Amino acid sequence: MAGADAKKRIAIFGSTGSIGTQALEVIRSHTDILEVEILTAQTNDELLITQAMEFRPNAVVIGDDKKYEKVKAALAATDIKVFCGEEALEEVADFDTYDVMIAAIVGFAGLKPTLKAVSKGKVIALANKETLVVAGDIVMQMALDNRSPIIPVDSEHSAIFQCLVGEARNPIERIILTASGGPFLGKKPNFLVNVKRDHALQHPNWSMGAKITIDSATLMNKGLEMIEAKWLFNLQPEQIEVVIHPQSVIHSMVQFEDGSIKAQMGLPDMKLPIQYALGFPQRIKNDFPRLNFRRYPALNFEEPDFKTFRNLGLAIEALQKGGNTACVLNAANEIAVWAFLKNRIGFLDITAVVEKTMQHITYIKKPTLQEYFDSDGEARNFAASLMKL
Ligand code: NAD
Ligand code: MG
Repeated sequence: MAGADAKKRIAIFGSTGSIGTQALEVIRSHTDILEVEILTAQTNDELLITQAMEFRPNAVVIGDDKKYEKVKAALAATDIKVFCGEEALEEVADFDTYDVMIAAIVGFAGLKPTLKAVSKGKVIALANKETLVVAGDIVMQMALDNRSPIIPVDSEHSAIFQCLVGEARNPIERIILTASGGPFLGKKPNFLVNVKRDHALQHPNWSMGAKITIDSATLMNKGLEMIEAKWLFNLQPEQIEVVIHPQSVIHSMVQFEDGSIKAQMGLPDMKLPIQYALGFPQRIKNDFPRLNFRRYPALNFEEPDFKTFRNLGLAIEALQKGGNTACVLNAANEIAVWAFLKNRIGFLDITAVVEKTMQHITYIKKPTLQEYFDSDGEARNFAASLMKL
């Protein structure tokens, strides 16, 4: 571990993605206190090489085996260690040489390396919400046992986390997660049935990776975030509310037992929650654009359209049922979103696939880690068979 005045050494898992690249922007402007120890990418070898040459980490991982020789050759003149393949992610997560893992891999693939880092008692700056959706009970218990602080990067959860600073003795009455509503706010099924991938990829307020952008359009993202919030803040399902707030400047809110509500606000920019997680408990001075209230003469709030965006209801069902239900929901959703992005299924089919898969897979009340992996695999296979993939 770094000493009190040493730089924090950061491992970015998923460094070539939307969160990963923004995390590197944050580090680039604070090289006096932050340095890069590990970078990992799945397929984008070019960007990984560029990042490695600039930030000079101790190690990099390229997921795709076919790209290993190229990355190794490009970094041959440096002393950067190069690894490849899925297992290497856990291997480098096991290193003693980093302080903070930024968990920025997308989907279920982020679970194993994050668990490894948690078992080592590392600080986790958690963007990969699927980790908690799939196995939140196991991850949070392991974090408690190993004193591994999990600091949310997801903007809503970062907002709630920030609202809770100084409130350790004050129970939460409820939290209110804000949702932009995505590109199809106000639309009905007769419109959504014909929606194509390029339209669904245009988010009004945030620029993000493809999977979470589709999840935002279907509102599954907010459903996953409800489940993420349950585990992060130890809440009952009834304590978690969602409100549509199209401007995305209130990032979320906490209501305490006296009825008082705290909100965290700012422009929609993921660099802010990333930086907060890296600096915590300090806030780091920056020159990001500031929120100007005169540009926001009105902030609007409305009830989500549960009838049209049925994914939200399915996620609430998973939240209430517990066990392996959310793991199954997540797996089916990952496969269905992938198929939608490949133009293999329609927009509304995503929900149909998730719903049918949830009905099909056997319920397990208190799954072991292995049972979560098995449920994930079964759900993926069943969802794929529904779509004839
Ligand atoms: P992205 O698709 O832009 O990037 C994903 C990263 O993960 C890439 O570096 C990629 O190489 C790596 N990756 C992909 N598949 C992998 C696999 N099978 N094994 C190992 N590595 C793999 O995604 P993103 O938008 O940066 O999102 C990352 C995570 O952060 C997601 O869980 C998402 O829900 C969460 N998140 C993102 C945002 C955002 O603004 N982008 C906001 C909140 C939460
Ligand atoms: Mg979010």
